[in-house]
Amino acid sequence: MADLSKLGFHTKLSHVGRRSKHEHGFVNPPLLRGSTVLIPTVAQRKALQAQRGAQVLTYGTGGSETHWALEAAIAEIEGGTRCYIVSTGLAAVTTPLLVFLKAGDHMLMPDHVYGPARNFAGGILKQFGVETTFYDPCITGEGLAALMRPNTKVVYAESPGSHTFEVQDIPAIAAAAHAGGAKVIMDNTWGIHHFQPFQHGVDVSIQAATKYLAGHSDVLIGSITVNNEDDWLTLHAGARQLGQYASPDDCWLTLRGIRTMGVRLAAQQDAAMQVAHWLRKRPEVAQVLHPGLPGAPGHDLWRRDFTGACSLFGVEFKPEFTAEATYAFCEALELFGIGASWGGYESLAVPTTGGITRTAGSGQFAGPLVRIHIGLEDVDDLLADIDQALAKMRAFAG
Ligand SMILES: *Cc1c(COP(=O)(O)O)cnc(C)c1O
Repeated sequence: MADLSKLGFHTKLSHVGRRSKHEHGFVNPPLLRGSTVLIPTVAQRKALQAQRGAQVLTYGTGGSETHWALEAAIAEIEGGTRCYIVSTGLAAVTTPLLVFLKAGDHMLMPDHVYGPARNFAGGILKQFGVETTFYDPCITGEGLAALMRPNTKVVYAESPGSHTFEVQDIPAIAAAAHAGGAKVIMDNTWGIHHFQPFQHGVDVSIQAATKYLAGHSDVLIGSITVNNEDDWLTLHAGARQLGQYASPDDCWLTLRGIRTMGVRLAAQQDAAMQVAHWLRKRPEVAQVLHPGLPGAPGHDLWRRDFTGACSLFGVEFKPEFTAEATYAFCEALELFGIGASWGGYESLAVPTTGGITRTAGSGQFAGPLVRIHIGLEDVDDLLADIDQALAKMRAFAG
């Protein structure tokens, strides 16, 4: 087998996670389902159970070829050494926080963080004696260093934020975190392979694989990728203690999604760019929050650290429009669904004003926000749909 790390992204996606000796000649890894694993002798069973952090078949929750194929694929996509698959993207957020933090520790979390991650910090982590300080996502390395405490053990990051799209200076944040002895845990769902977390100082990278990796709005799954053996052993042992597991059917569907992710992402990136440019010229729009747009917030950092964009971005309407006017806009759209999640083949639009919690003073917008996800439809159809929905929004506003 050629060294995948040296091959192009699309070649990688065709070949990752395929190990022919287990496949009886079939192209794809097997879909193995099971709880009990029968082992011929007691001595063999003991020897297998003694292998810490190894991919060995001893019981269903330890995973099987189906899981390991997906883990190998995502580790390669993220440029890390090993990956652990969990039941949802949210479990991929909470598991490393539980594993790498303990009572008495302090965490720094960006103010624009994915809402359920904020809830976890203020809920179970707080209940177990971990304190969290929220920081402005646009903080500099110096600013972050000033917030570090002797007991700060995790600096969390999400770049760009999935509602307001601030791009973080991850290398500067990681340098300050490491100088203070903290690990950097990053939600890299927006960046996917366009942001290589381990080349920018991240220690643990999270994917809501529910989004583009699975890609068809029919699977919930998450991945946690690390870049050294110590972190792997800690993560693996902790995730096993927590009983984290994903259905092999969902792993298999995600592997199937990964085979076409390169072409889907390329098409969706292009379409989203076209829609973002078009929206930017509209009189109803104050700004388009897409880091790939020249002059948009975070564009310079995006250009420095990312090789591309996905198809999720925000629109801030002019302050003369109310949040209710944006509801009328979303409801008038015929080709866009109103729904959470993203990364599927279908376009979505959701009003986000009022649904975002901020406690560090960042992310203040004068006008109402809508988050747009662009799917695989024809761009001309999407633009015509947005055009007619904007007319209804103007009519609503009077
Ligand atoms: C969707 C999402 C998650 C959680 O993924 P689920 O599979 O829905 O639990 C985590 N982070 C970000 C940025 C997301 O958009």
